[in-house]
Amino acid sequence: MADIIQLLPDHVANQIAAGEVVQRPASVVKELLENSIDANATDIKLIIKDAGKTLVQVIDDGKGMSVTDARLSFERHATSKIRNAEDLFQLNTKGFRGEALASIAAIAHVELKTKKEEEELGTAIEIEGSKVVSQEVSVTPSGTSVAVKNLFFNIPARRNFLKSDTVELRHITDEFHRVALAHPNISFTFYHNGGELFNLPQENYRQRIVHVFGSKTNERLVPVEESTEVLKIKGFVGKPEFSKKTKSEQFFFVNNRFIKSPYLNHAVKAAFEGLIKDGYHPSYFLNLTVDPKTIDINIHPTKTEIKFDDEHTLYAILRSSIKHSLGQFNIAPVLDFEH
Ligand code: ADP
Ligand code: MG
Repeated sequence: MADIIQLLPDHVANQIAAGEVVQRPASVVKELLENSIDANATDIKLIIKDAGKTLVQVIDDGKGMSVTDARLSFERHATSKIRNAEDLFQLNTKGFRGEALASIAAIAHVELKTKKEEEELGTAIEIEGSKVVSQEVSVTPSGTSVAVKNLFFNIPARRNFLKSDTVELRHITDEFHRVALAHPNISFTFYHNGGELFNLPQENYRQRIVHVFGSKTNERLVPVEESTEVLKIKGFVGKPEFSKKTKSEQFFFVNNRFIKSPYLNHAVKAAFEGLIKDGYHPSYFLNLTVDPKTIDINIHPTKTEIKFDDEHTLYAILRSSIKHSLGQFNIAPVLDFEH
């Protein structure tokens, strides 16, 4: 009987992988911002048009790429961030899979310009649907600019599936918030259709939170700080009386990466027990630092979920340090909320 299994061509494999990594313009924003951070950028510009459907561009002043690296960066499983399987458990970077640029280039028009500080001239590459259209020497500032145009141009079903500009812009803003809060030491600007939405200087954590969420936020913040062998906590919780009906101000960062964790969220809620009405949610902005060896980040395509070795201990430390901080601010349980 004739054999029927074939290896898929690269551009098809890339398009399939893209289905996982790139759900919407906000996914592109996340991947590009993370690459700029991994490149040690100190200043990052995000420029989008039509809620990212027409353009997502990220310009950084990071370390840039050599000519060869610029070309290789679009290959699948091509990464400068890990070399072997052990490295997966000592990650100091956001990226490690080498999939983002290959995936994005499979489903959009991508223009990359990049230059290393020590070089005089940089490289410009254009790729459309995984095909390199042009590559030339370019006079360009040190750092990297990646422009992603016409997302899903070759997958009409995905393009039609995108929501209104308002909804897509909200997803992008959410990603921007997460990255901006995780890195107050980096300056960010964010433009949509030519208008400036954010202009954040290098600042400290409290200043960044207030910059992003508005001046009224300042008086609501209760500092939380803890340092144990297995977990360091630095950040703020909102005072109970400012708890919200939505979960829009709940941020966990583990080793500077935004993550979702229903389990740790429960630990925070437990610390607020008796202080918050049913149906309301505490605000929190908490940076957790753990030994990279004790977590596994490689469990979800968008890397927003983490597996911790010892969740129970983290839960207990988190709950008690928040309780302690709330106590220090003389916040006693108020059981009758109507007064
Ligand atoms: P990953 O981030 O998982 O390594 P990507 O596809 O996102 O995979 O990027 C591939 C490689 O391209 C990176 O490992 C990095 O070496 C290089 N690269 C991507 N973006 C930038 C950037 N903004 N500045 C410098 N190098 C970059
Ligand atoms: Mg990446």
